[in-house]
Amino acid sequence: MVSIMFFLKNKIQVCSVFIILSLFLFTGCSTKTLQQGQLQNQESQNVTIKMLDIGQGDSVLIRTSEQVIMIDTGDVDERERLLSLLKKEGITTIDKLIITHPHSDHIGGAYILFKQFNVKAVYDNGQTTNTKTYQTYLKWIKDKNIAYKQVLAGDQLDFGGGVSFRIFSPTAQMIKADGDLNADSIVGKLIYGDFSMLFTGDSEAETEKGLLKTYGKELKSTILKVPHHGSKTSSNRNYLQAVAPEAGLVSLGAGNDYGHPHQVTLNKYNALNIKLYRTDQDGSITVTSDGKTYNIQKEK
Ligand SMILES: [Zn+2]
Repeated sequence: MVSIMFFLKNKIQVCSVFIILSLFLFTGCSTKTLQQGQLQNQESQNVTIKMLDIGQGDSVLIRTSEQVIMIDTGDVDERERLLSLLKKEGITTIDKLIITHPHSDHIGGAYILFKQFNVKAVYDNGQTTNTKTYQTYLKWIKDKNIAYKQVLAGDQLDFGGGVSFRIFSPTAQMIKADGDLNADSIVGKLIYGDFSMLFTGDSEAETEKGLLKTYGKELKSTILKVPHHGSKTSSNRNYLQAVAPEAGLVSLGAGNDYGHPHQVTLNKYNALNIKLYRTDQDGSITVTSDGKTYNIQKEK
């Protein structure tokens, strides 16, 4: 009996020590977990904008703390590259796919996205064309029953995590007039706190003229996606002065058939002291912002 009592007492002591130790360890661990959690939370509050090195075309991957967004998908012959770039980024779901206009160097990779990823919603300007690439795009949206919405000037999309996308162009009238596909590209401003970036698709000088008149100072953005792969048919001086970006990002393929970027365009940016980053020379370009400051990283 005594030995049993002793055994129990001993066991209680051992248990007590064990419980105290556990509590200590548990408290220690939970503090550490909390710190890591806070760090992760701070990191995930950033917006990351990656202009993919996708040859002659456009494709931009945007990640906020809540969503994955893509603006354009590169050309048909770059589909496999797009797929590998996105897989490398660990992408499985695309919350929003925005197509600026239905030319193949912007819409060409949509097929592989629909086939390989969970694309939740597609947004475009509603302008149609009769190319096979565009018909395939429509067919996949329909077959996979993907949410689709036309967006026009005045609309706003929520990218989650405090990031919004304000659409400036095209207007309903521009689409009704069934004008030039490039000129009617979706132009929109991503806004996150003090940071902003203007996305322009292949919009043209005439688009810029209209935007200046309607939006003026509201065009001002931290960074500009240089319109139409650096073509001389856009990037008007007045427009650049209104947007007044600190840097411009150009997406284009080395030695492309169009001679992009045109020298006169490069000169305009140079004269205004706007630093240019180019996917043909720098590889993929990544912009990260916490809503106050930002940094730009080149792959090469
Ligand atoms: Zn283009």
